[in-house]
Amino acid sequence: MTTNIFQDIKDRVDLRDLVRYYGLDVNRGGFACCPFHNERNPSFKVYEDHFHCFGCGEHGDHVDFVQKLYGLSNIEAAKKISYDFGLGLERGKFATPVRPRIMKKDAFTLWRNDCIKTVIEYKKLLEYWSRIYDPRSPIDKIDDRFLESVHNRGYAEYYLETLLIGSKQEQRELYEMDKSYPDKIKKRLDSLDSVSRSACKKAI
Ligand SMILES: [Zn+2]
Repeated sequence: MTTNIFQDIKDRVDLRDLVRYYGLDVNRGGFACCPFHNERNPSFKVYEDHFHCFGCGEHGDHVDFVQKLYGLSNIEAAKKISYDFGLGLERGKFATPVRPRIMKKDAFTLWRNDCIKTVIEYKKLLEYWSRIYDPRSPIDKIDDRFLESVHNRGYAEYYLETLLIGSKQEQRELYEMDKSYPDKIKKRLDSLDSVSRSACKKAI
């Protein structure tokens, strides 16, 4: 008997539980604010087996959601879901059905989920800036945004990587060491006007 990890995830995890687990606030109508574009009013609808955003058109199932949110491949996303929900699929144990386990979120987990989204946005912005403000010739004046991307990209990448694939201990250490980093970034992102922020998002 072969079991498909993707189908198994769909069968065993409620999509609303899943998006909530990864930080979305789903209202009674099944709508949430979309994590893939910037919005104040929820236009991201969570159905039983798929989601659809009426704002930006993002669409997909359980694995697509996690894949897009964390920038993973589909198999990595499936493994992450399996791990986070205690399904045991990532270790090749397909036989015993386990009831999905939704852990109560502690302050650290809440901080981490929120933080990942912010750092991803900032990192993408820096990547975008380093492309479009790359000085074309040695006599060009160097744009401040290019400098910012040169100076800050490495740390943003390190920070994100630790949160995504670091051990629990490494993540805690990062939290102790520099938990205000995402707040600083958030302020930086908020200081940009919405036009340049969404232009960048579209360009990515
Ligand atoms: Zn959207």
